Amino acid sequence: MKFGDKTTENDAQLMTWDDTFCFRCHPGIDCFNSCCKDVTIFLDPLDVIRLRKALNISSTDFIETYTHRVLSQKSGLPAVVLKMDKDNDKKCPFVAEKGCTVYEGRPYSCRLYPLDTEQGVEYSFIVGEDTCHGLKDSTELTVEDWRRDQGLRDYDDIDHNLKDVMHADELWEDKIADPRMQDMILMALYDVDRFREFVFDSSFLQKFRIDDDIIDKIRNDDVAMLYFAAQWLRFALFGKKGFLKIDKDFLEKKKHEVLSKGKKEK
Ligand code: SF4
Ligand code: SF4
Repeated sequence: MKFGDKTTENDAQLMTWDDTFCFRCHPGIDCFNSCCKDVTIFLDPLDVIRLRKALNISSTDFIETYTHRVLSQKSGLPAVVLKMDKDNDKKCPFVAEKGCTVYEGRPYSCRLYPLDTEQGVEYSFIVGEDTCHGLKDSTELTVEDWRRDQGLRDYDDIDHNLKDVMHADELWEDKIADPRMQDMILMALYDVDRFREFVFDSSFLQKFRIDDDIIDKIRNDDVAMLYFAAQWLRFALFGKKGFLKIDKDFLEKKKHEVLSKGKKEK
């Protein structure tokens, strides 16, 4: 089915991957860059990995400089939102006259615009053609063409993998209220460099028996580290062990240390 002959913001019809719509955005269009200001852009964990790479800075610096931390009122899960430049017309810090300066690493929401989706299956228009003039263009494409051209498919696997952590029913029933736990989750999902430090520079690798090939992979591969972080969160939040196996010798040693300390204090 073709959509968008007269696209409006409240277009209630939902498109699936085979449906087509009309759209083209280019530097010559009169609304160019207008959508890169005064917007709330929630960052996906993969967005942070890509943006910090585009900017050649650590994830820790990126989080501190370019994001606000927010907490879900229902689940207590932390998330990060891109900071707009309040001294410059609430513009995105990465927009320039010629367009997006971090185009290759631009966030998921920017790739998706002017569409929106809940689960990546059905899509709707987030704005109408009065706001986004690219929707008046006659260039026709399918939703799946759009997903491919914008690199949205890269997010499918990761979103699928993180779904049981970020949207777990347990979190709706038992909200995370401990700020230390919220900080750990933020680190694991969004601050890959700090989480890597936590894994390699603490007793983590003594506590858990992890296969060498996994350790080699997560040492330098940010996406592999994100999958690893998801597994660790499943363990820490819901007790699901997966490939994380606690080292029994380490546990015995710790038990022994605690007991000896207790005896000395008596
Ligand atoms: S509003 Fe639409 S056409 Fe205009 S710059 Fe943004 S995406 Fe492109
Ligand atoms: S990241 Fe790029 S595309 Fe997204 S709002 Fe900023 S300048 Fe625009």
